[in-house]
Amino acid sequence: MKKRTILLAAPRSFCAGVERAVDIVERLLAARPGPVFVRKQIVHNTHVVDELRARGAVFVDELDEVPAGATVVFSAHGVAPAVRADAARRGLDVVDATCPLVGKVHQEARRFAARGHTVVLIGHAGHEEVEGTLGEAPAQTVLVEDLRDVDELQVDDPTKVAYLTQTTLAVDETTAMIDALREKFPAAHGPDTADICYATTNRQAALSAIAGRAELVIVVGSANSSNSRRLVELATRAGTTAYLVDSAADVPPDWLDGVKVIGLTAGASAPPVLVDEVIDRIREFGPVDVIEHEVTRETVRFTLPSEVRGG
Ligand code: SF4
Repeated sequence: MKKRTILLAAPRSFCAGVERAVDIVERLLAARPGPVFVRKQIVHNTHVVDELRARGAVFVDELDEVPAGATVVFSAHGVAPAVRADAARRGLDVVDATCPLVGKVHQEARRFAARGHTVVLIGHAGHEEVEGTLGEAPAQTVLVEDLRDVDELQVDDPTKVAYLTQTTLAVDETTAMIDALREKFPAAHGPDTADICYATTNRQAALSAIAGRAELVIVVGSANSSNSRRLVELATRAGTTAYLVDSAADVPPDWLDGVKVIGLTAGASAPPVLVDEVIDRIREFGPVDVIEHEVTRETVRFTLPSEVRGG
């Protein structure tokens, strides 16, 4: 049988914000005698959550499920100030795993709102990161999801408009929305290259470099992972059939029928081992050459919060 080729995108898989968030929960589980509660999924990946749950983490949707005085971790996606206030009222011992790059967007939201701007947030309704950012200045923030929303947007004072973005959006689509927003409100303030984080940008660039050469693209990530879903869309827009899989078991043999070149990547919340397992799965159906294509090397690391540092 002729060999298949896997083009492996790099960078892929865990980003610095996800590594930090997982590390925080692991350290708390090792150091604290009582249960460690985590509000929402610590990161949007089923395997990460299942593994931490098996080691003792208790995942809850809201703080009213956490007993007074207990330790609770806020997820990498961040929380609205109202959630922080609720935690303080309940006397909870909070350890914050919000990614510093999400924290930066919150800071910008507060800064623009304090100057009396209407804050236009480009993002997806219902995503936890968006809910957290919206919560910084709810009366002054308006969410736009697509170009039509920008077109229909009305503000009190067109000279006082600022924009922010979710960190895990598609770079090309977001650029188009910012261009439309600036055309409509020439005085709009905001980051030149959106708030899309380095990890999202790099994973999209890495996949762009190989998607056109692959007959099939497999993205490892969970269905609720925004940056993973954007990778599937990017490959699809490049004209290549693309699938999102949570694990190797989700790859059926018929996807590989007649396919010689497979592009493989993983979203920022998907553990690297899952990518190895997908390669092993593809090998079950015939010999494979794996060629990694690295577009950039990531060196970003974030400091841990003081509660879990040291030792
Ligand atoms: Fe932070 Fe970006 Fe990773 Fe989200 S994807 S946790 S914003 S580094």
